[in-house]
Amino acid sequence: MKTLNDFNFKDKKALIRVDFNVPLNDNFEVTDATRIVSAKPTIIKILEDGGSCVLMSHLGRPSGVQDEFSLKHIIPKIEDVLGVEVKFANDCVGSEAEEKANALQPGEILLLENLRFHEEEKQGNKEFAEQLSKLGDIYVNDAFGTAHRAHASTTIVAEFFPENKCFGLLLAKEIDSIKKVLEDGEKPVLAVLGGAKVSSKITVIENILDKVDHLIIGGGMTFTFIKAQGGKVGDSICEDDKMELALDILEQAKAKDVQIHLPVDVIAADEFSNTAKTQICKVTEIPDGWQGLDAGPKSIENFDAVVNQCKTILWNGPLGVFEMDSYANGTIELGNSIANATKNGAFSLVGGGDSVAAVKQFGFEDKVSYVSTGGGAMLESLEGKTLPGIAAILE
Ligand code: AMP
Repeated sequence: MKTLNDFNFKDKKALIRVDFNVPLNDNFEVTDATRIVSAKPTIIKILEDGGSCVLMSHLGRPSGVQDEFSLKHIIPKIEDVLGVEVKFANDCVGSEAEEKANALQPGEILLLENLRFHEEEKQGNKEFAEQLSKLGDIYVNDAFGTAHRAHASTTIVAEFFPENKCFGLLLAKEIDSIKKVLEDGEKPVLAVLGGAKVSSKITVIENILDKVDHLIIGGGMTFTFIKAQGGKVGDSICEDDKMELALDILEQAKAKDVQIHLPVDVIAADEFSNTAKTQICKVTEIPDGWQGLDAGPKSIENFDAVVNQCKTILWNGPLGVFEMDSYANGTIELGNSIANATKNGAFSLVGGGDSVAAVKQFGFEDKVSYVSTGGGAMLESLEGKTLPGIAAILE
C-alpha cells in the first residue's frame, strides 16, 4: 500500500483529492472545519518536502455552476487552518486551472473550483479525469468520505498516474483502522450495532459475524430480533418482513460461535416525543401503545460488562433515539463504557452515519481510538466491499 511517506515531493506538484464538503452558514462561513483539519497533515507533509499542492474537492450537491456551492467561500478557513495562502482557480479544469497549476511554486497551494460543477465528475468521465490529471505530477487520494464512489476525481483519475499515486495520511489511517478491527483485531473483538433498522445493516451484520467474538445489537433493530423470538414489542419500530432474517442471523451467530447481546430492558414511551410518559419495561413485555426508545438500566449494565472485557471494539449506530434528551442515556453510557475500555488499552473505532454525530455531540471524540470521517464509505467497508477509490490506488 503506497502512502505519502513512499514519495518525496520536492519540486513535485501533488494533485490531492480532499473532502472539503464542509457545512456553511447563511453567510457562507464554515461552521465545522473538521474535514479541513483532517487533511492538514497530508498537505503540510507535501509542502515541507518542498512540493506544492493542487487541492480538488466537491461541495454540496450543485446542479451546474451555482455560486452558493463555490469552494471560494471556504478559502479563509483553509488559510486559517493551514497558515498558508491559498490561490484559487475558477474552474477545476481548462486553461486557467492549467496555467495556475503550472505557475505553482514549491510551498504554494492552489484550490480548484467545485468538481461537481461538471456533471462528468459523478459520471466518472475519463476525458474529464484526464484533464484533471494534467494539474499534478503525483495523485494523492485523501478523501475517505467519497472513496466508495467511482467518480472522476476519486477513482478514474488514478489511471493517469500508474506509478505516481498514493493514499494521503488520512485515508491511510482510515484503512488501517478498519483493518485493525476486521482483520488484525486483538481478541475478544466486539461490534456494537445500533441505529434504526435491520434492513440497512444486514450486509454489515453478515460480514462481521466472521470477524467478531461478541455482537451487541441495540437501537431500533432490537425489536425485530425480539419479536422474531416471540417477545412482545408493543408499538416499537419493527420490520416484520425481516424477522426470518433476524432468526437466521441468530442461527449463524451460534454456528460461528459469536455471542449476541440484545437489550433485556428498555425505556418505553407512550409516544415518539421527548416529553412522552415513560416507563422501564422488559424488552419482551412492552405493552401495546408503548414503544422502546432507549436501552434500559439493566441492558446498560450488561453492555458495560461486555465492552470492558473486549480488546477491539467497533461502534456503529446509537442505542436509542439520542437526538431527544430523554432517550440519549443508553448511547451516552455506551460511549462511557467504550471510553473506559479504550483507556484500559482496547482499540476502538467509531464509524458510519449517526454514531459519529452522537460521539461528537456527547464529547467522546478524544476518548476513543479513532472516529471515521466517512459515513457511507465506512458502512461499505464494514460490508466487506472494496471501495473503488481505494482499489484505484492499489491497482
Ligand atoms: P442509523 O442511521 O441506522 O444508524 O440510525 C440512526 C437512527 O436510529 C437515529 O436517528 C436514532 O434516533 C434511531 N433510533 C435508535 N434507536 C431507536 C429506537 N429504539 N426507535 C426508533 N429509532 C431509533
